[in-house]
Amino acid sequence: MKDYMIRGMDREGRLRVFVARTTQMVDEARKIHNTSATATAAMGRLLTASAMMGATMKNDTDLLTLKVSGDGPVGTITAVANNRGEVKGLIDNPAADAPSTDSGKLDVGAIVGKKGVFVSITDIGMRDPYIGQTSLVTGEIGDDIANFYSESEQIPTAVGLGVLVDRDLSCKAAGGFIIQLLPFITDEEIGMIESSLEKARPLSTLIDEGYTPEEIMEELLSEFNMETTDRIDVSYTCDCSADKVEKVLISLGEKEIGDIIEEDGESEVVCHFCNTKYHFHKDDLEKILLTIKNK
Ligand code: ZN
Repeated sequence: MKDYMIRGMDREGRLRVFVARTTQMVDEARKIHNTSATATAAMGRLLTASAMMGATMKNDTDLLTLKVSGDGPVGTITAVANNRGEVKGLIDNPAADAPSTDSGKLDVGAIVGKKGVFVSITDIGMRDPYIGQTSLVTGEIGDDIANFYSESEQIPTAVGLGVLVDRDLSCKAAGGFIIQLLPFITDEEIGMIESSLEKARPLSTLIDEGYTPEEIMEELLSEFNMETTDRIDVSYTCDCSADKVEKVLISLGEKEIGDIIEEDGESEVVCHFCNTKYHFHKDDLEKILLTIKNK
């Protein structure tokens, strides 16, 4: 089953919603970064959120970067997304792990930490990107993002993020939702949403049972007249390329490249988002040196 997300709206314009299924994307991240079970859940939650939040950006070239930096052993987790459901990520300490909670859940808050910051950077190609930052609330990531929306964006928002990890450490099910309340919603309707979310089974359970994002939206918001307005594929996709790496090498300058040629005679550059290795032989480096000199 392919990963995708939907954007939905109730017909009266009182709320908007994103629901995503991201099982394969999270498993791809797990394979690339070789994460522990708890780190898979932490990173998977942030990547899932970034896919949905990134989809709100207007232009194809816009980039959203989310960072969770707590005082826990996992360090900083980074997710980067565009508006087409393509996401990639980084994690400081992929081996960080913790015993499950008493209720048997992966204890994401324990490896992220409860003290720290959530940062959102939106780069729309202007000189200064738009940066929002709030304090972490629980380190569970969903709560921290809901808090970010209400504090930094002043939009009352419910966020649910779930990752289920199998015994063999692969991702069994993953997904998320973001529900945003628009100004015309009544207190009674807000109460209906709250009680529905309280009653709902965990998101990762629903996805594991085969619920589609459309069915999850129905399940969570059955009292509303919901309509799907958009469907977007989600994937772990890195946009690195030999050309881009070459540009980075060119930016290092004449001396640096000269030193590499003299000392190693070749260079290998690894993309930390996807582990792709780019190998530059001596004549490649000499060509780069020539490019720099001719600038
Ligand atoms: Zn890459």
